[in-house]
Amino acid sequence: MQYLATEIFTSLPANLRILSYSAIQNDTSLPWKYGDPLPPATMDSILITIPSSVPDSLISYALLPDPTSLPNLLIPVLTDYISTVTSPPPLWSTTRTTHCEICLRDWIPLTYHHLIPKKVHAKALKRGWHEEWRLNSVAWLCRACHNFVHRVAGNEELAKEWWSVERLLEREDVQGWARWVGRVRWKKR
Ligand SMILES: [Zn+2]
Ligand SMILES: [Zn+2]
Repeated sequence: MQYLATEIFTSLPANLRILSYSAIQNDTSLPWKYGDPLPPATMDSILITIPSSVPDSLISYALLPDPTSLPNLLIPVLTDYISTVTSPPPLWSTTRTTHCEICLRDWIPLTYHHLIPKKVHAKALKRGWHEEWRLNSVAWLCRACHNFVHRVAGNEELAKEWWSVERLLEREDVQGWARWVGRVRWKKR
């Protein structure tokens, strides 16, 4: 079955395989083409790209009564896929965590860190470092980790290189810091 899923996915049109929220912001034909419900013209263009080995295998596994029912099987899967990959990123106010996203301590007050610092928003847009919708993404960090992040890189470097928690955590100095500070239990006064 894994083979079939791969076979179907790789035969999809390229703009459907790489569909994303960012893509539909930049190409106004995409939301129409891959809307919900899927327009019949789109479905037709997808079906002609799927090799006949796919319905043949599905029939042999008794998962499909006949080749003409292939759309009924594919439509819900494709609709699901499209709505997942094109949904907008959550608003920062709804991403609040209960723990610091670097040291994972959950008993200390959190601050929010603009992953793309506000002071360089205009520059980031002008230079094409980021698209507008990404500018307000934030990480929830304890004060110690927040200060640490601003020590390891200046605003421009943060915006260009370290604009997600995942990226920050790829740095060895951040990993070492997280291990160290994560063990520190500050006494409440
Ligand atoms: Zn922390
Ligand atoms: Zn910050």
